[in-house]
Amino acid sequence: MRGVHDKIQIENPKGGNKAFIDIGLNNLFAVVFNHTDVAMLIKGSTVKAEYYWWKREIGTYQAIRDWLRNHGFESWKKYHAFYLHAVFKRRERLRHYYRTAIRFLAKTLWQIGIDEVFIGYPYLVSQDNGNEFNTNIWWYTKVINWLGEVLQEYGIKLHVVNEYGTSKQCSICNAEHENGRVKRELYICPVTGIKINADINAARNIAKKVGYKTPTPKKILTYIVTTNGIKPITPKEGVTPETPKIKPRPTERGGGHTMGNAQIPTRIEGFST
Ligand SMILES: [Zn+2]
Repeated sequence: MRGVHDKIQIENPKGGNKAFIDIGLNNLFAVVFNHTDVAMLIKGSTVKAEYYWWKREIGTYQAIRDWLRNHGFESWKKYHAFYLHAVFKRRERLRHYYRTAIRFLAKTLWQIGIDEVFIGYPYLVSQDNGNEFNTNIWWYTKVINWLGEVLQEYGIKLHVVNEYGTSKQCSICNAEHENGRVKRELYICPVTGIKINADINAARNIAKKVGYKTPTPKKILTYIVTTNGIKPITPKEGVTPETPKIKPRPTERGGGHTMGNAQIPTRIEGFST
């Protein structure tokens, strides 16, 4: 195995800085550093929108398939094929987005002299839908493994940190506020009144958990992952960037027929990181 690893590594770290990452769905990656007050956000709104688009397609095919089968129509097989295709397509699309984001992130970390990365393994509370919960866990594990592989090419080490408790903790005053509010992606410290991006807050807490201090972020470099790569976005002060519309090409929807509405929800109730 040693030989395999030696072959994979093509770069050496440029410095000894550390990065701390919170992984999620609104922000695929929220990153803070021990050596700078600049933080990074890679937004996942495109991924989330596409995830729900396919979820809906999958649900529609499934429902039609089951109805046809229960009523003795042979054509259920056709819809089963559509269903399988949609499941496959969703996985392929998400994989593409994540891999794009991971490539960009790994290269950026290398460029700014990181040699060790600490990523939070999400502690998720099982929500109403057990299936969704398992899908998310499955993705997080995959994403962490992919990131580890790509970082290895740069000679950067990845450590996985259990994230339990890091979302409630306040990275501003260090207390664990039971009433620390999260509003429009902002964590609001009830003691100091200071607002901080909730995922940046979690990333800082991951750092704290492994014994590192991170400066309070003064600047957040924000990016979004699109089908054509990573694009920087500069949101206006205090405004959450708009979710771009996604229209998967008709050929990707199996057979060129029209099923369901290609409407993309921008905000899903009860869905949070
Ligand atoms: Zn506080």
